[in-house]
Amino acid sequence: MADNLRGSRMGATSLENVRGAVLADTLTHTYECPAGHDVRVTMAADAVPPNAWACPNHGRVSVLVVTPQTPQAPVLAEGEEPPTTGRQRKTGPPRVSKTPWEMLLERREISDLDELLTERLGVLKARRTRQ
Ligand SMILES: [Zn+2]
Repeated sequence: MADNLRGSRMGATSLENVRGAVLADTLTHTYECPAGHDVRVTMAADAVPPNAWACPNHGRVSVLVVTPQTPQAPVLAEGEEPPTTGRQRKTGPPRVSKTPWEMLLERREISDLDELLTERLGVLKARRTRQ
């Protein structure tokens, strides 16, 4: 194993053996480019293909050719939430980072801070007069 790692770097070919690996079922979908040719996109067999795909050659919007094999998105009843997998997308206003001063004000009152300041100034003054 140590010999296998010699000379390899991040991003180099994987050392994992692919023998015996089971590939996921795929389905190739056809999109019609307005320039007059087909764009073929291979996706997982159970993936619902988007209705439009940008042509890799022209960048134009190509329209999906629907066949009986094309997976369809399930029709949701009114008020039904689409199924979620993995982490839920965060919603709401974007997070605004707080300054250290704002975080301090969440933990202490101004009167407490005044008290602390006088206490620390007293310590500093005592230190200076001693020297
Ligand atoms: Zn095209």
